Amino acid sequence: MLRIGCHLSSSKGFKAMAETALSIGANTFQYFSRNPRGGSAKAVDPADIEAYKVFAAENDIKDILTHAPYTLNPCAADEGLREFAKNTMLDDLQRLELLDGGLYNFHPGSHVKQGIEVGTEYIAAMLNEVLWPQMRSTVLLETMAGKGSEIGRTFEELRDIIDKVELKDKLGVCLDTCHIWEGGYDIVNDLDGVIESFDKIIGLDRLKAIHLNDSKNPISAHKDRHEKIGDGSLGLEAIERIINHPSLRDKPFFLETPNELEGYAEEIELLKKLYH
Ligand code: FE
Ligand code: FE
Ligand code: ZN
Repeated sequence: MLRIGCHLSSSKGFKAMAETALSIGANTFQYFSRNPRGGSAKAVDPADIEAYKVFAAENDIKDILTHAPYTLNPCAADEGLREFAKNTMLDDLQRLELLDGGLYNFHPGSHVKQGIEVGTEYIAAMLNEVLWPQMRSTVLLETMAGKGSEIGRTFEELRDIIDKVELKDKLGVCLDTCHIWEGGYDIVNDLDGVIESFDKIIGLDRLKAIHLNDSKNPISAHKDRHEKIGDGSLGLEAIERIINHPSLRDKPFFLETPNELEGYAEEIELLKKLYH
């Protein structure tokens, strides 16, 4: 069965997100842990969490994905910004334990002229501080488009971070189809080759989630502009191959396409038809 959802607003809580997901034909969803630009998280409502757990179990909603604010930069040049990224992530991960753990995705960060090696050291150092042996969540590094000085455009860059982290069993990868395409991986003409190289360099056992997006730009554009499913440079046939690929088909897929709920519902319906 296709595990598919989209990005939802978290403003009304977990139970409301699960209800929204169900209403648009989704069986999972993604949400921001707090305002995407950072700032403090809302207080957790234990009653909402409990109601959510019951509703999700009854309706087979699972594998939900928590996304860190995208302004966090774990490899910023400024120590205060790195501290902020660390404290925010630690706070998010502690809250996630209330949901009995789950998947937590973040952007590795931008090295801002410090170079990839320095950036990689900072990211790994942060992870070594925030992960703990008993945690139940898996922290996912997202593949990036390589805009500006973003780290994580290549599979090697992600592997180099993972290599430097002690609690490797807490780490996974979220593959964003728009990002890897704009990062230079030809998933339109050589999906098998790209997946093979992911497996060799990172290992498919680390692949925990997929951001399913079309792209407004050609391969290697490094711009990071998502497009609606089938309307972009990936196109519907490539997306059909992606959701049905033997190494990908059982992973949870999350749409981050430029849509309101109605548009998401249509894309989910279309993708379910294309899944065989
Ligand atoms: Fe992201
Ligand atoms: Fe993404
Ligand atoms: Zn993106």
